[in-house]
Amino acid sequence: MTVELISVGTEILLGNIVNTNAAYLSEKCAQLGLSCFYQSVVGDNEERLGETIRTALTRADIIILSGGLGPTEDDLTKETAAQILGRALYSDEHTKARIQEYFEKRKIVIAENNWKQAMIPEGAIIVDNENGTAPGVIMEQEGKHVILLPGPPNELIPMFEKDIIPYLQKFTSGIIVSKTVKICGIGESTVATMVKDMIKKQDNPTIAPYAKTGEVHLRVTAKAESEKEARRLIKPVVKELKERFGNDIYTTEDDVTLEKSVVDLLKANHLTAVTAESCTGGMLAARLINVPGVSDVFKTGFITYANKAKRRTLGVKKSSLDRYGAVSEKVAQEMAKGAAMITKADVTVAITGIAGPDGGTKEKPVGLVYISCNVCGKITTKEYHFSGSRNKIRELTTANALTLMRQCILKYYSEVTFGK
Ligand code: ATP
Repeated sequence: MTVELISVGTEILLGNIVNTNAAYLSEKCAQLGLSCFYQSVVGDNEERLGETIRTALTRADIIILSGGLGPTEDDLTKETAAQILGRALYSDEHTKARIQEYFEKRKIVIAENNWKQAMIPEGAIIVDNENGTAPGVIMEQEGKHVILLPGPPNELIPMFEKDIIPYLQKFTSGIIVSKTVKICGIGESTVATMVKDMIKKQDNPTIAPYAKTGEVHLRVTAKAESEKEARRLIKPVVKELKERFGNDIYTTEDDVTLEKSVVDLLKANHLTAVTAESCTGGMLAARLINVPGVSDVFKTGFITYANKAKRRTLGVKKSSLDRYGAVSEKVAQEMAKGAAMITKADVTVAITGIAGPDGGTKEKPVGLVYISCNVCGKITTKEYHFSGSRNKIRELTTANALTLMRQCILKYYSEVTFGK
């Protein structure tokens, strides 16, 4: 069975919004083992939308449309698709009641045009929307399946996960299971080289690398008759990856992020942590605070941007700033030490760098960053050379600071344990 995706919305064509629905849906279809050969974006125009749907019907078995199910005049997806399939629209009582309940709960008066969302094509399957008012719609005709989904991702994704995946699973033989091996501290090309042989001879499971900011994920996907069998196929491949990447794998769990792995490590070792940031302006603290329950280990975060702040707040020496400059190994170390002195935290991390786009020199170019991590008095400072926009550099710095925290804590305990 093949799938074609049609994203409806002039906003997408104009570049006002990024088509994340298409990325999400194509990834999910691939995981389900459904081949997607075509994707289109079309504006809120009846004629062009009609043409796109007609073309899709000639070359795909399942057509998934997203967007244009709203209450306004320019929301045309349902009306156009129904017309092409020769179906009249009727007012569905169940959907009407749900829309009424949705507005009553929020104490909002229903506008007349909201009832448009209760108009359903004859014979269609209605998919309730748990997070909005536009229901999803499935129409089956002459072996084709036309699925209409609301545009907002917070409505589309839960609907897809809860009702559309089980519907699509009927068309795929077997079951697809994935496990993601998440790696930090090694670049994308090194990871790719280290698994090149495995990717070359892959069949089932497959291994797909995904580069993330400051990390690389390897998704291992198996197809089998049962979930148990798929997991059995995945197991030796993940084992092999663990042997190759060792401690650079921070997790194989879907819901564990890099910051969560760091917080878990702090908790497991009963360590408290403090951040001292310059160019990242609190991004490291914010990522740590993403993790629920971080208050057990995270004490405070300093943002010391100006030289004066580095001196007054963290006790960085004037002589170090004058001699080495604010972006230097020495100042990063003094920031980490100062933060530890003031707060008595076990782990302190300091960041100083040039995020650009201005302020770089030949000796100290944009993207030069120093990160210093102190674990119970043992300090490690690293120099980094990042490239990209100001924000990219700051994001890369933050991810690498988390990675350095992780590496330093692991190293500290391996040395304590082995008495090095
Ligand atoms: P609504 O009921 O909210 O009007 P809808 O089904 O009519 O939803 P649209 O009006 O097309 O959907 O889009 C509503 C919003 O959903 C957009 O402004 C955008 O924020 C988001 N959205 C729509 N399509 C996409 C897409 N392909 N990728 C990401 N976001 C999208």
